[in-house]
Amino acid sequence: MIPYRPEPLTNFQTETNHEALFEAIRQAQDALGREYPLIIGGERVLTGDMQISINPSNKMQVIGRVSKANAEHAEQAIQGAHCAFLTWSRVPAGQRARLLFRAAAALRRRKHEFNAWLMLEAGKTRAEADADTAEAIDFMEYYGRQMIEMSETAAKKLVWMDGEDNDLQYVPLGVGIVIPPWNFPLAIMAGMTTAAVVAGNTVVLKPASATPVIAFKFVELLEEAGVPAGVVQFLPGSGSEIGDLLVSHPLTRFISFTGSREVGLRIFELSAKTAPGQIWLKRFVGELGGKDGIVVDKDADLEAAAQAIVASAFGFSGQKCSACSRAIVHEAVYDAVLNRCVELTRELKVGDAIDPGSDTGPVIDESAYRKIFESIETGSKEGRLVAGGGKAEGDGYYIEPTIIADVKPDAVIMQEEIFGPVLAFCKAASFNEALDIANNTEYGLTGAVFSTNLAHLELARERFHVGNLYFNRKCTGAIVGVHPFGGFNMSGTDSKAGGPDYMQQFMQLKLISEKL
Ligand code: GLU
Repeated sequence: MIPYRPEPLTNFQTETNHEALFEAIRQAQDALGREYPLIIGGERVLTGDMQISINPSNKMQVIGRVSKANAEHAEQAIQGAHCAFLTWSRVPAGQRARLLFRAAAALRRRKHEFNAWLMLEAGKTRAEADADTAEAIDFMEYYGRQMIEMSETAAKKLVWMDGEDNDLQYVPLGVGIVIPPWNFPLAIMAGMTTAAVVAGNTVVLKPASATPVIAFKFVELLEEAGVPAGVVQFLPGSGSEIGDLLVSHPLTRFISFTGSREVGLRIFELSAKTAPGQIWLKRFVGELGGKDGIVVDKDADLEAAAQAIVASAFGFSGQKCSACSRAIVHEAVYDAVLNRCVELTRELKVGDAIDPGSDTGPVIDESAYRKIFESIETGSKEGRLVAGGGKAEGDGYYIEPTIIADVKPDAVIMQEEIFGPVLAFCKAASFNEALDIANNTEYGLTGAVFSTNLAHLELARERFHVGNLYFNRKCTGAIVGVHPFGGFNMSGTDSKAGGPDYMQQFMQLKLISEKL
């Protein structure tokens, strides 16, 4: 088999790609406002209760009306997944992986279509949308290969013993609840779902409420690729109505969650309680957020550092758990870096995600919009507002990229995740102090250091306590297989999506020893 290689990004400078995307957006726009059912055991179920998905770039535009599940549907979905597990878990690993490769190929063929929906439903610019689609393809190509390799090599790792035939096999866990985020509505949703599925589990996928249409289209794509009915149930619904029930159900074997720390902790606690009739310890795989910092040393390439800070802070309006929300800069170069970042930030054009001229689009919804402005207000009292701070023009949830300077290390905006286009600048008297400030957070997801001092880079390698540490580059944009992604402390279980150990979390190992 051809080894895994990351999917190349689309060059939108060519007329063909530009036109193809434009045409895909037009077609998606023609299909707006449709109704979408639940999918349980392969059956479509339209419920009377609908959730409306809207375009964050244009609040009046309805992307789709999506059926909401109630407690009864949740019970049926778990039973459907439980039933399908009996057969799916016995399908050989290679055959399961092949379905992922087929789905990846279909997604590659239809990338413009999926990019268009990402732009409309999530407010991603074309570059961000294309990276999201490419990453979804990568996850399927990578996890498919991982599964094949793991199933073929597990037993080879055993030590020989005369007179015995020893075998080691990965076996799936059972029914999993997959709760993905809205910020990578295709990539992370697809990665979480297909890793669980290719391991031989069946899942109940509860898509993020802001981006259910993309998730529906992906589940359809899996069906078209040959994933059997009942392997993935599509179950949108509210956390309070179905979320707790799914997590607490005695047939639930594991929960794979990516989202806020608040919701993650709640699910973690719920999943630790054993329900009557439950005969296992549930596994929880969680990716919960970050408060990521970029440290700039006094002898760094300042232009490269400023470019990276601005790209990491404001790409997709800062709505990534890897986003840089704290720039920690040595006092000798603080003003120079700050001024350059302010200059670059003011050049950013915020606007409708489908406009190729927009550098960044809106934030996801009304509640995010309001919370981000509250953080800006808090931050403005804690420091000096030097860029942005207000609404940007348009009929969407547009916020100007915002920088707040001269903030103390323990200020609220240096500590709490904002998940929006807000960047705090903090001054450090030495490189050591900069590292202390960078580590002064409950999270530990990504971080970057800009320095030409090799001793300082070595020090950071050892002391900067994050799951993904980058030197002289931005702290967003991890690539599947190249930069396994996941963090320490309150950032989650360090599950390392797109890494060689990820798949293990969805399986258990069985040793079979036969006396000869
Ligand atoms: N993997 C993404 C990156 O490296 C971030 C994922 C997330 O925001 O959850 O930028």
